[in-house]
Amino acid sequence: MFNVDKIREDFPILKRTVHGKPLVYFDNAATSQTPQIVIDTIVDYYSNYNANIHRGVHTLSQEATDKYEEARIKVQQHFNAKESFEIILTAGTTHSINIVASGFAALLNKGDEIIVSALEHHSNIVPWQMLCEKTGAILKVIPMTEEGSLDMKTYHQLLNENTKLVFCNHVSNALGTINPIKEIIDAAHKFNAAVLIDGAQATPHIKPDVQALDVDFYVASAHKLCGPTGVGLLYGKKEWLEKLPPYQGGGEMIETVTFEKTTYAGLPHKFEAGTPNICGGIAFGAAIDYMNSVGFNTIAAYENELLNYATEELLKIEGLKVYGTSSDKTAVISFNINEIHPYDIGAILDKLGIAVRTGHHCAQPIMNFYKIPGTVRASFSFYNTKEEIDILVAGVKRAHRMLS
Ligand code: PMP
Repeated sequence: MFNVDKIREDFPILKRTVHGKPLVYFDNAATSQTPQIVIDTIVDYYSNYNANIHRGVHTLSQEATDKYEEARIKVQQHFNAKESFEIILTAGTTHSINIVASGFAALLNKGDEIIVSALEHHSNIVPWQMLCEKTGAILKVIPMTEEGSLDMKTYHQLLNENTKLVFCNHVSNALGTINPIKEIIDAAHKFNAAVLIDGAQATPHIKPDVQALDVDFYVASAHKLCGPTGVGLLYGKKEWLEKLPPYQGGGEMIETVTFEKTTYAGLPHKFEAGTPNICGGIAFGAAIDYMNSVGFNTIAAYENELLNYATEELLKIEGLKVYGTSSDKTAVISFNINEIHPYDIGAILDKLGIAVRTGHHCAQPIMNFYKIPGTVRASFSFYNTKEEIDILVAGVKRAHRMLS
């Protein structure tokens, strides 16, 4: 039985106040909060076995290496990758996408086509534009609909023998829409195009199975699923990771180096140049364990309850419009009230101790589609409560009164 009060005890930050009011943290889509067990893992690393990994003969280095590689296995098992070396530990989603985009520069030719969705975060747009500039490939966009979903009919029409890559997020960060990624992947594979799914917003709510999805690349960030910042994963099918050239040169990613010729290490090290975020990787593993101990079905069911309740209550406010009304969405509500600037609402909510995000959410094309400067975005996690939603709704009503 899910007990939110008990869950909240795991998160020390939830006890703090902001401007004298209890913190109501609804900016989970930007970054999630950290449970004590993950904080303890970080403290344990720096207190007991802080050392560089992989080539040290001494005990601390071996302990750190073992824990780091154990974390990789945890990530592998969580995402159901076939091989642990298909998991590259990176600095996060942005880094993972750039590794793939930079690698494809060597594989694409002028006139090849890349398809990207209209619902993307800038980090899943800009690297591909840079790739197109470098290679002469053409970027095509799957349009979005008024309800914030993808226009799948057009997607199927965009695919052809020139399509080499398709990029789409699993869940939109600005609207919360869950995209039909299995359909996207299967259709792209009919044309032998590779697919990268940006799972940054999906992984806090859904446990993806990369083999069942048959996805070529899947990327995500630890800090959205109760882990630390600056660490994430790039899952890639072995065949693709072997084909892509390394992203960065340096230590750890080589087999032999002479001034005449360097040979690269095998997977995953080929993509892990330099000293990685060792503590972050280990804490990522602890965060995955923690999330699984709560259970993703439980998380999704509870967050859905919060989403439905918040949507119902917020929509009672006159002039409030919710963007992203697909029935298939995670616990994100993006809204505006009449012409009031989202920033002004966010600033008043902050004074009441309520953390929401305002602005374009790194998804300017979505804002352009709706012809708005941005939205107020409240995003919920399994440690939030209905009482907190009541505080949000009261705060939004107050902001509305003050700004009208
Ligand atoms: N893609 C999506 C859908 C996101 O929501 C985010 C983070 N807001 C990113 C990519 C980038 O993640 P990071 O900043 O951790 O690299």
